[in-house]
Formats: sequence, C-alpha cells, structure tokens
Amino acid sequence: MSGILIVAEVDGVVVKPELGELVTLAGKIQESVGGDLVVGVVVGSGREVPRELEGWEIDAVHVLEGDGLGDPWPEAHSEALAQLCAELEPDVVLLAPTLLGQEVSSRLALRLNSSLIQGAMDVQLRDDGLFARRHIYGGAAVATVAAAVGRHVIVPRPGAYERAAPSTRSAIDVLRHTVSLSSTPKTRFTGLTRREGTVANIKAANVLVSGGSGIGGPEGFELLQEVADLLGGVVSASRPACDAGWVDSALQVGMTGKTVAPDLYLAVGISGAIQHLMGCASAKVIVAVNKDKDAPIFRASTLGVVGDWKEVMGGLRDALSAAAR
Ligand SMILES: Cc1cc2nc3c(=O)[nH]c(=O)nc-3n(C[C@H](O)[C@H](O)[C@H](O)COP(=O)(O)OP(=O)(O)OC[C@H]3O[C@@H](n4cnc5c(N)ncnc54)[C@H](O)[C@@H]3O)c2cc1C
Repeated sequence: MSGILIVAEVDGVVVKPELGELVTLAGKIQESVGGDLVVGVVVGSGREVPRELEGWEIDAVHVLEGDGLGDPWPEAHSEALAQLCAELEPDVVLLAPTLLGQEVSSRLALRLNSSLIQGAMDVQLRDDGLFARRHIYGGAAVATVAAAVGRHVIVPRPGAYERAAPSTRSAIDVLRHTVSLSSTPKTRFTGLTRREGTVANIKAANVLVSGGSGIGGPEGFELLQEVADLLGGVVSASRPACDAGWVDSALQVGMTGKTVAPDLYLAVGISGAIQHLMGCASAKVIVAVNKDKDAPIFRASTLGVVGDWKEVMGGLRDALSAAAR
C-alpha cells in the first residue's frame, strides 16, 4: 500500500478525540500523497475494536493486538507500529499530539529511518518534499521545516487542525494482526499506579478558566471553579500557581505544562509570558482579565478586561448564575 496511516490512540477502550485532528490533516494532504487512508490502533490481547472507529471515511482499520500492547508503553507500541509499516509501507504516518504519541513518533521514525516533524502546522506535501511550520525558541518564532522526499512521521500541533467528526459511512474493513514483540525489550512496563483523586483533563475541555499568580492563593481558585462550572468548563493555571501548590500541577498550561486548544480560554491574573502563551495560543478565543493595562496577555487576547479579577469574575459569576435561573 502507499498512502497515509493514521495511528488512533486508545485510552482503555475509548479512542482519544485527537483522531479527529489527524483525519483533518490527512484530508488536506491525501490528494498529494495518493493511495489509501487507513487507521492503525494498538490494543491489548483479545480487546474489542473501539466503537469510535466506525463511521470514518477511511479504507480500513488495522488492529494490532498482542501481549504487552494493552499498556501505554512507547517501546512496545513503536515496535508494533514498525511491524505494521513494514507490511503496509505507508508514505506518511500521523500520530496524535499526546505524551504517548510524541514519544512513539520519535521511536517509530528512528525504526523506519524516516523524517519526523512534531508540532506540525500547515503541512504540505510537494514534489520536492514535505513542508511544515512549527514553533521554535519557546514559541518566540515559527520555523518552516522541509523533509526530503521519502517516508514521513508527523505529529500535528494540538489545535492546529479542526477535529473532524465521523461521517455516516459505517462498513469499514477491520484487519486484525497478532503482534509478537521482541523477547528482549530494553524496557518493560510493569505496572500502573493511578493518582489519588481525579484531576480534570484540561486538554479535552472546550472552556478553560485559567488562574495565575495574580489570583493570590488557593482560595481564589474557588471562584474560578464556580465560573468554570457555570460555563461547562474546567479550571487550569499558570506555572507559578501550580508551583505554589494552589492547584494540581496536571492543570498547568504552557511550555512545561500542557498545550491546550479550547474554544474559550479565560486568562485571569496571568501576565502572558511567552512560555505560558505557547500552551494556549491555539485557543479560538482568549479573554484576559488583568489589573495592568500593559500586561502582555492583552496582546494575545481577543477581548481584554482591565480590572481587579475578584470584581470581574464575581460579576461574571453572578451574571451567569442569573442567566441560568
Ligand atoms: C523554561 C521555562 C518554562 C516555563 N514554563 C511555563 C509554563 O509551562 N507555564 C507557565 O505558565 N509559565 C511557565 N514559565 C514561567 C513564565 O516565564 C512566567 O514566569 C509565568 O508564566 C508567569 O505566571 P503568571 O502570569 O501567573 O504570573 P505573573 O507573571 O506574576 O503575572 C501575574 C499577573 O497577575 C496580574 N494581577 C495581579 N493582581 C491582580 C488582580 N488583583 N487582578 C487582576 N490581575 C492581577 C498582574 O498584573 C500580572 O500581570 C516557564 C519559564 C521558563 C524559564
């Protein structure tokens, strides 16, 4: 086969929503690549094919199953996917912009001796190779990178491509492959310990109400949580707020935190440092609340409110509560 292999990532038995971004990216380059558009999914032994794989405009689903594949372990996944690539010989392999996707992509590109572009935007395949743009220098600049003609492994930047939804097509060929992994892996997955309590998944949220050091302490986040609840969203934070222990570090947005792409990002008491903006620049709408009219966050915002955050957010909560009644 020539064409595009999309790697769908599974969390338990649920396909991660980043699949929609990969399908959109594939649609944009499919004409230049030619060939088939197939999905590969790595699952544990005897697992069902996830339901979410039905209904996409794709030619086939390749299910890779075998011992050691049910765990989120990059070494095993990259080995299994390399075996599939040896069989299918796709021109382009697309992986999700998740922690697992990033690491598997690096290992897979090495195994395939292919080019690798992570954080890719505006991907174009031309006769003289593959071109993409990506953020560099902590997001202070955007580089255009070119990969020579050959096979390409690509991970898009989160939010760079809209999430497509499955269409109505339902009958897709499902081909199951039983994979035998190396009997002498360099590392093995031996166990998973879930963190106590539940922390919101800020990458999946459509609305984020994000607090920075201007919030002044953990108690201030209670008001942000109220507003987030009223908007059907989730609370996130800047690094200082996480480092101070005001909120869980899993809620950190930015260069050393998570890259998010919600419909609405409400930045409250956040100055707008480049390392923070790197994580939220793909939001569709950024609304900033800051008492300093010269705060850099206003330059990155769609809408800005200059004022004390407690007054602004208190007023917003009251207005939203009244509207909900
Ligand atoms: C290698 C590296 C990686 C980094 N990674 C990250 C990262 O992933 N994420 C991240 O966030 N940062 C990161 N940083 C830190 C980053 O440089 C900034 O220091 C940080 O983002 C600032 O956080 P802040 O905006 O909450 O705080 P500040 O910069 O202190 O800003 C607080 C803001 O609150 C406003 N404010 C204060 N009181 C009020 C009030 N009552 N009402 C309204 N507004 C008020 C102030 O005017 C100010 O603009 C990184 C730095 C480095 C060097």
